[in-house]
Amino acid sequence: MNNESRLKILFVSAEVSPYAKTGGLADVAGSLPKYLAAMGNDIRVVMPRYKSIKSEMSYVADFPVSVDWRQETCIVRESGMTYKDGEIHKSLPVYFIDNYNYFNRDGIYCFNDDGERFAFFCKAVLGMLQHINFQPDIIHCNDWHTGPICMLLKEKYSNNEYYKNISTVFTIHNLQYQGHFSKDMLRIFEVGEELFVPEKVEFYGSFNFMKAGLVYADIINTVSETYAKEVQTQQYGEQLEGLLRNRSESLFGVVNGIDYDEFNPQTDTSIYKNYSLESFEVKKENKAALQKEFGLPVRDVPLLGLVSRLTGQKGLNLIVDVVHEIFKEDVQFVLLGTGDEYYESIFRDLRTQYPDKMGTYIGFNASLAQRIYSGCDIFLMPSLFEPCGLGQIISMRYGTIPLVRATGGLAETVIDYNFDNKNGDGFVFWNFNSFELLEAVRRATGLCAGNKKEWEKLIKRCMQKDFSWFKSAAKYMELYNKTLK
Ligand code: ADP
Repeated sequence: MNNESRLKILFVSAEVSPYAKTGGLADVAGSLPKYLAAMGNDIRVVMPRYKSIKSEMSYVADFPVSVDWRQETCIVRESGMTYKDGEIHKSLPVYFIDNYNYFNRDGIYCFNDDGERFAFFCKAVLGMLQHINFQPDIIHCNDWHTGPICMLLKEKYSNNEYYKNISTVFTIHNLQYQGHFSKDMLRIFEVGEELFVPEKVEFYGSFNFMKAGLVYADIINTVSETYAKEVQTQQYGEQLEGLLRNRSESLFGVVNGIDYDEFNPQTDTSIYKNYSLESFEVKKENKAALQKEFGLPVRDVPLLGLVSRLTGQKGLNLIVDVVHEIFKEDVQFVLLGTGDEYYESIFRDLRTQYPDKMGTYIGFNASLAQRIYSGCDIFLMPSLFEPCGLGQIISMRYGTIPLVRATGGLAETVIDYNFDNKNGDGFVFWNFNSFELLEAVRRATGLCAGNKKEWEKLIKRCMQKDFSWFKSAAKYMELYNKTLK
């Protein structure tokens, strides 16, 4: 890449793996910037400094940020994220916005003052730029926590020499979480009443952070082409479909990749025994160890797995509807997740009811997740909606066959196995319906138990698929260049 096409990019996210993670947003924020850096861009990442982050970091600057009638202090700290440029290891800067009141708490979200916390974050991110002497071409915002940055640049900074040429890309990772807060946010952002109209940030009486991103960003994208279309419909649009349709010329879809160095069955230190495409039979040893870890009998039966936030979005009610039917067959099921208490208690109870078939771990455990991806036969994602989904991509990388509902990124990344032509790389059902799920589970477990040769071919096909970031990072470069035009 020549110097002219080298871009200066600030990547803003509330979660970045490995520093803080609740879902796929963190995976993307912790991997895409590395690939963009390896392409020659000057990319830097910024996130809040939560209490749980213990990494070493150095002090960079501090400055006041006004929040209503108060002044809060923002301390900027810096750490680095290592990436590979060819065979050379390099590091890109990760900045942390530190403030004791807002971020030194147990947990990341779900506080009463989340509006104020992330309003502070947005203002501090823009304030930080002059202190770190970085004038980006692009600010890449992600999800609702960062939406108001796009608004502030257009409404408050458009005449400011330092900021006026910065373009914005806003990525929707999940439209369901929008950040609805009171009208008081106008005061915190120091913007006028005229913005509190449906054409701008007002949304049925509240200030909507996601909408502030969607209205003001130069370019919007979602994390799959299918979801980019879906969000323009009433079924998936979360009441923002009209706005998204109006902006359809600036709305794109770029499917997520995964970090192929991090998610690599050949080198992953979390799994029992490493393997590659050539030695995929070793998966069996990982399966046996996983069965032991969950206290299940070590037997050669289809092992289903699920790693997920336990929320309605993930289609868990379909599983709950037919789980007793599924357990009539000779199969086992291991689940790792945390979220709605309703689902947590159902899956705990199932463990008690079926101690030889069900393994349940309620909590967040990144290394156990890897052992599930490597040790299971079939990975379940029957989502109601799924902007991209990373679970199915990671599971394929580990040779575990995904079983998904055809929505969002799931529809784009998994091809249904066809019993006649014997092609495809997973099992897909279309309608959000527990009988269709059950039928897909039966097709998958039937093939897994009944036709080992064919199953091995499926494993190989999954492991050969390429979901590295190279293609998608190039698409993000196209989007960045569009904003500059
Ligand atoms: P979402 O972003 O909607 O949560 P994705 O499939 O895009 O769903 O990404 C989920 C990511 O979070 C994956 O990397 C998955 O392995 C991880 N994950 C989800 N729940 C857990 C958990 N309880 N423990 C460990 N990792 C989890």
